Amino acid sequence: MILLTPGPVQLSQRVRKALQGPDLSHRESEFFALQAEIRRDLLEIYGLPAERFAAVLLTGSGTAAMEAMVSSLVPRDGRVLILENGVYGERLAEIASIYQIEHLRLARPWTQPIDLSALGRHLAVAERLTHLAVVHHETTTGRLNNLAAIADRCREHRIALLVDAVSSFGAEALDFEAWGIAGCAGTANKCLHGIPGVSFVIVRRDALPPQGQPRRNLYLDLGCYARAQDGGATPYTQSVQAFYALAEALAELQEEGGRGSRHARYRALADQVRSGLTGLGIVPLLAEGASSVVLNAFYLPKGIEYSTFHDALKRRGFVIYAGQGELARRIFRISTMGAITPNDIAQFLSAVEAIMKEHGKHSSAVDAAAD
Ligand SMILES: *Cc1c(COP(=O)(O)O)cnc(C)c1O
Repeated sequence: MILLTPGPVQLSQRVRKALQGPDLSHRESEFFALQAEIRRDLLEIYGLPAERFAAVLLTGSGTAAMEAMVSSLVPRDGRVLILENGVYGERLAEIASIYQIEHLRLARPWTQPIDLSALGRHLAVAERLTHLAVVHHETTTGRLNNLAAIADRCREHRIALLVDAVSSFGAEALDFEAWGIAGCAGTANKCLHGIPGVSFVIVRRDALPPQGQPRRNLYLDLGCYARAQDGGATPYTQSVQAFYALAEALAELQEEGGRGSRHARYRALADQVRSGLTGLGIVPLLAEGASSVVLNAFYLPKGIEYSTFHDALKRRGFVIYAGQGELARRIFRISTMGAITPNDIAQFLSAVEAIMKEHGKHSSAVDAAAD
């Protein structure tokens, strides 16, 4: 079975094998060495100096990293502006709301880009804003938000930038220094090709809460993790096997040439998917250039329901991803993350073509309904 889903991703043989590493206590020196190696390699992907940035490792899925970032880095008297154009932007707001963090929301329809002029107007009138939180790659639609421009506005207004890069870290460009990123949430099992269970926040050290400041959280307290991990320890049990897999996946990424190579590899696969499906008359949700290289969304062929399409592809060995919310009945999503080859994509495209033929669908019979 080939997973074309945005996490968990198809594992390489060597990452799968790494899961069988020796049993290990998280209180032993071998674990601390493993932890230190992963923290170093994560910073290395974006060339970040360990004096100014820390990779803080958590046992949990990507949402744990989002929650740790928002609930640890925004102080009690902080006020956050949250930009939303999809499920994950809305999740950032939900986290702020549950923790009773004062926040404002600037929401756009899911298929639309962040409105930079509205953002400018908001920043000009909003008082006491300390932070802005935004999703880098909004996996809901595949849109890569314009982080460089958003970061410019934050710098002008001296607002700390918090980024959910869970589905872009390791593949898309992130300029931590130039964009002034204070916190960035990521995960092992998307563009890094590890297994689910480890997530992390890359924090600028001067953005960490000072020790002794009242805490909002226990398990997700980034300050506590950062201090323990800097001291060669861990506050709680970590998922040791998921750490093994992540360390191997990071070594594989380095050997492949790092983030730039991964981006190029995804770019080629995404172009192959896009041109292949377009050739079959299937229409992309977003204009070319608006999508990440990580995931692209497409309208369903007209007259074929998602579940029919999904099940027919699954019988042929491919798992695709549904749309969410209002888009659930209209789109499907194809991710290019994981150990996927051009040959896998070619076979996937043949399977789509065969299914469309079975359903009597031709190039003219597609739902081109644009927004
Ligand atoms: C996958 C994802 C998450 C986290 O999802 P988990 O299921 O908790 O791993 C967060 N943000 C974005 C943008 C994502 O794509």
